[in-house]
Amino acid sequence: MRTLRLVALAIVCIGALACGCAVAKPTWAPSAIEMPVHQVGPHSYFVEGRLEEASAANQGFIANAGFVITGEGVVVFDALGSPALADRLIAEIRKRTAQPITRVVISHYHADHFYGIPALRAVGAKIWADARAKAYLESSAAQERLAQRRALIGKYLGADFTLPLPDRWIDHDETLRMGGLTLSLHRLGPAHSPEDLALLVEPDGVLFSGDVVYAGRVPFIGEASTRLWLTALDRLLAIPCRVMVPGHGPASDTPRRDTALTRDYLVFLRAQMGRAVANFDSFDAAYAKIDWAQFKALPTFDAANRRNAYAVYLEMEQESLGQ
Ligand SMILES: [Zn+2]
Repeated sequence: MRTLRLVALAIVCIGALACGCAVAKPTWAPSAIEMPVHQVGPHSYFVEGRLEEASAANQGFIANAGFVITGEGVVVFDALGSPALADRLIAEIRKRTAQPITRVVISHYHADHFYGIPALRAVGAKIWADARAKAYLESSAAQERLAQRRALIGKYLGADFTLPLPDRWIDHDETLRMGGLTLSLHRLGPAHSPEDLALLVEPDGVLFSGDVVYAGRVPFIGEASTRLWLTALDRLLAIPCRVMVPGHGPASDTPRRDTALTRDYLVFLRAQMGRAVANFDSFDAAYAKIDWAQFKALPTFDAANRRNAYAVYLEMEQESLGQ
């Protein structure tokens, strides 16, 4: 009986090798999370993550991802926060087209945007990311974030999950022509991250901005340079578009108005923290004195604001030392 089973297994393996099929099964648990899809142009769509911090309950589905059906394959913008979420994205794409998913552009290497890469790679997509992400991948911060996500949503990552590299590093702005569409990649970093990329779908007038824009929630600042981020916002607004899809929050057909929250928040933090540093106030004393009314009601304020303010306090200290 055992011999028969071994022979059967050998036949399956040889058959799989002969047809080039992968025998490995995904090691991540499947997700059944609701994933709303919005069409924002004739060829352009996005799924909208929740305006929350990552949690076990939301499975880390807190960022947006876009896709463009070109006629010569599907281009995906961002891979979401786990392979399980990326499988859900692939399922939504499959409801709309049988074309292969050929490319994935990663807006930046934050966990909620690139941990889904293994699932997209498994269906044959090539992954592109900005070369400035290399430093993050080698950092202890990247490993700390991975440990935090494993504790939170480990089963959706799979037991053998490691930080996925892209297949190609982007080091200049470039234009792709696929299926009659022109797609242009714009390097905006360093801004929200060192490596921010935006994607413009030219005939649709749809601009996927990544996290250079947050709509409807307090941004995540982390290691960002807010000074360069503000400059990048200006460069983003100079790209002509009809609809802008931010990294978090709903799409906008009035980009100038709807980038105001991100801009106002960064300007406010810089002004407040800059004043505190100039007055030699401690961070705690400065933070307690500030009237946060303008931002207090926004989602993620409680989770993110103090951490953001402290990051900007340190940045303003650095700037004052530099002057
Ligand atoms: Zn981010």
